[in-house]
Amino acid sequence: MTFEALGLHTSILKALTDSGYTKPTPVQEQAVPAAIAGKDLLVSSQTGSGKTAAFMLPSLHRLAQDESAPTGRTPAQEAQSAKARGERPRFKPAQPKMLVLTPTRELALQVTTNTDKYCANLRRIKAVAILGGMPYPKQMQLLSRNPEILVATPGRLIDHMESGKIDFSQLQILVLDEADRMLDMGFIDDIEKIVEATPATRQTMLFSATLDGVVGNMARRITKDPMVIQI
Ligand code: AMP
Repeated sequence: MTFEALGLHTSILKALTDSGYTKPTPVQEQAVPAAIAGKDLLVSSQTGSGKTAAFMLPSLHRLAQDESAPTGRTPAQEAQSAKARGERPRFKPAQPKMLVLTPTRELALQVTTNTDKYCANLRRIKAVAILGGMPYPKQMQLLSRNPEILVATPGRLIDHMESGKIDFSQLQILVLDEADRMLDMGFIDDIEKIVEATPATRQTMLFSATLDGVVGNMARRITKDPMVIQI
């Protein structure tokens, strides 16, 4: 099996070659075509299996198909022109198209770094990490660029959501990475609140070491007719 055969956008294929990836891992072989087709996924796989690319490559492919559509000006550009007109710039909420929730800052940074590699040739697609412990002014600056992709830990994301800095009405893709760990860490209420703020039409992908018990219950509540992949 090759990455070409999975149907990925040529800009993504080039980034994979540049990253030294020669062929998909087993979880990527199964997840990528289904996710490109818009299916919800429940995936049981471990760290090291290539799970980040398994959800990020098809998501970038889908977002890249939108890429030629006009997106209007970024909030930062609007603030600039408001200033030029002598008006006080208003903060316009970021409207991400994709959200990845992770249990830890370390994992969020790792996902963001990998995403930067995979979308190196997709000009308009940018990912930013929203993490507890990062200074608010820095995060406001990142959000003001209206990135397509947010990678976040649940607690800090809720803060920004509740203060009106993020609007999920345009969200197309939601990923829960290491969902079992997020539940172990007590993030269930935050996750429920975030999921409720996203459109019911979204595509949802959940990755977890196990799909039993509490994780399985949540997974089935937040996905629609998911494809189940056990690696
Ligand atoms: P993950 O399971 O997402 O944490 O990925 C584990 C490591 O494998 C990361 O360093 C990835 O960059 C790398 N990786 C993911 N997919 C591939 C692939 N198809 N070929 C080579 N390396 C990969």
